Amino acid sequence: GTAKAEVKQAEEVATKSEVESKKEEEKKEEKPEEKKEEKRNTKGRHGGVNEKTILSSVRLMEYILNTSVYPREHEQLKELREETAKHPWNLMLSPADEGRFLQVLLKLMNAKNTMEIGVYTGYSLLATALAIPDDGKIIAMDINRDCLNVGWPSIEKAGVAHKIDFREGPAMDTLDLLLKDEKNHNHYDFIFVDADKNNYVNYHPKLMQLVRVGGLIAYDNTLWNGTVAYSDEEIADLPKYVRHFKPFLVELNNVLAADKRIDPALVSIGDGVTLCRRVE
Ligand code: SAM
Ligand code: CA
Repeated sequence: GTAKAEVKQAEEVATKSEVESKKEEEKKEEKPEEKKEEKRNTKGRHGGVNEKTILSSVRLMEYILNTSVYPREHEQLKELREETAKHPWNLMLSPADEGRFLQVLLKLMNAKNTMEIGVYTGYSLLATALAIPDDGKIIAMDINRDCLNVGWPSIEKAGVAHKIDFREGPAMDTLDLLLKDEKNHNHYDFIFVDADKNNYVNYHPKLMQLVRVGGLIAYDNTLWNGTVAYSDEEIADLPKYVRHFKPFLVELNNVLAADKRIDPALVSIGDGVTLCRRVE
């Protein structure tokens, strides 16, 4: 869970598209009719930072971004995205279409009290801060504040820094601390979870106490590069990091599907985001 480990993980994941391209090269020989589409699915198709999409048509992805996302992206969000693109671990950045989606959701819900677990340089944090009212609040948790230095100037320039309450340290400790105060129970409208995937199932019971009835918990990366639908044998050639975390996402998806206290929807945007509306 250290920053160093994150870099290593990011580097390992970065090699994934190479592995995929190789696999696609092989497949091409078997299925010539798919040749054209597969050839488009190669590395670097969205400038290297927006590749975490399960949408297999690059042209459609670009269409979505160019038609409905980039023209409506806030100036400082764009700036933050571009600053993050220069950062070595930019693979962790939330895709812009997902940011847009979360903003519309937050506004629909009139979300005011929110939380984010896993901040990195602050893209989803700024998207959230821009979508909630001026007196809205975000408790933002990350084990490390250094990456947020990349995005903080944009957040200040956007005039929303006052909404952010940053808590440095393992999110589990922060959640336990928050749970000690009754005032935080059933209090949060929206919680975005985008950190250590192995802990999502451990965060879930705590988040269920913190989110209000009718509120939303959103778990990110629940399709995990598309691996959740494949056996370990089928993903044997993927990087270790991807293979290591797959069972945790599979377990989470099963836990959420069986949890009658929530109304879940696994949305295939970005790398998959599962929306969980608390019903009781
Ligand atoms: N939401 C961000 C965005 O929109 O760009 C991306 C978050 S990135 C995928 C994951 C972040 O989770 C990293 O910044 C990492 O430091 C943080 N993290 C990892 N383990 C954590 C933990 N136990 N508690 C809190 N944060 C953690
Ligand atoms: Ca993510």
